[in-house]
This record gives sequence, C-alpha cells and structure tokens, in this order.
Amino acid sequence: MNEMKMQMPVILLDNGHGRDTKGKCSPEALKGNFLSPFFLREYEWARRCAQGVHSVLTFLGYTCFLLVKEEEDVPLKDRVERVNAYCRRYGKDNVLLVSIHVNAAGDGTRWALARGWSAYTTKGVTKSDYLAARLYDAAEKTFLAPLKVRKYTPEKEVGRDFEEALYVLKHTYCPAVLTENFFQDNKEDVLYLNSEEGLGACIDVHVQGIIDYVKENYEGED
Ligand SMILES: [Zn+2]
Repeated sequence: MNEMKMQMPVILLDNGHGRDTKGKCSPEALKGNFLSPFFLREYEWARRCAQGVHSVLTFLGYTCFLLVKEEEDVPLKDRVERVNAYCRRYGKDNVLLVSIHVNAAGDGTRWALARGWSAYTTKGVTKSDYLAARLYDAAEKTFLAPLKVRKYTPEKEVGRDFEEALYVLKHTYCPAVLTENFFQDNKEDVLYLNSEEGLGACIDVHVQGIIDYVKENYEGED
C-alpha cells in the first residue's frame, strides 16, 4: 500500500481495562480500603493518565483520541478493531498507538519488591521501537533514583524496551507501544502514582516521548 504521508499523525491513547476487570489493582484496593494512601485501581489511574496526555497534546495542537471512553472493560479485540479502523481510514503510517497500563509483579494479593517504569513493543525492530526509544528517553530524564526505569532489549539504538507478543501490539497495524507505569503491587510505586507529582510526571513522559517521535517522523521536511 502506498499511502500519502500526513503532516501529523493521529495519536491514539488506549487506557486499558475497565472498572469491571478482575484484579488489576493494589493489594489495598483489593481489600476495598478506599481511604488508604495505597489504594490504586489500574483502570482508574490509566484513565487519569490518558486523559492528561490527551488534554496536553490536544492543547498543543496534536490530533489525539482516547480509544476507550467507556468505564467498563472493552475487550482487547474491540480495542484493536477501533485502532485498525483509524489505520484503514488514515493509513497505518499516519496513526500511532500508546496503550497505558500499570504493571504488577504478582496476583495483587500482596506487596512485592519489583518496581519501575517500562515499555513494551512486539519482537524485532519496527517503527514501534523508535516510538518506545523516545518514550524511554523521556522516562530516563524524568524518573530519577530511587525511581526506576526498567530496561530489557539490548538492540543497539532502539533497545531498552521489553518485547512481547502482546495482543494489542501484535494485532494493530500502526506503530504501537504499551507502557507499564510502575507497579500497582509495590508500595513506593503506588505512593508515587497516587501523588500529583507522579501522575504529572507520567503524563509528561508520554507527552514528551510522543512529541519527540512525531517531530522526528512527521515534521522534518521544512
Ligand atoms: Zn494492564
């Protein structure tokens, strides 16, 4: 397919999961301790983060859509279909997807030690790796010790991200990255995610990484 390259891509934000998705929360949230500073539900946090990223990008003049406006879980298959509908309409190289999540080390029943921010792409080097690399650049500048940025692939230049055949990455046509924003079963991470500073920093990292990627790939011709 020879598609016309647009000046600016359509940026899609998937905020994963829904109110009714089982698990996917901190141990305190699992117990229903609403007033605990360690209360965190992934669907709720991811929506807050996605909405923040959406507001900033829209304000700055980018074309950005929230993929899931519902509070309930929208099955992966349907989310993928929503993304691919944009790809068919605008061309897959004119769309990019970032799926926003919170990581977990265990089944959510108890606190664990693993912590940090990371991002995932499919296996091998694709455009998604370049988007992940820009997100990692922003993350490494923003999340300083004791916060942690988790790195995996030693691919030169575009390394750092983890690579897995995650459904939403594998079945969407456009460049796609899934971010795991710290751990919902790590106490320090949950406090950070629940702080205004932490949420703001995660929003900034997505905004910065996406803008850097767009500048590199879409606005270079002037
Ligand atoms: Zn998730």
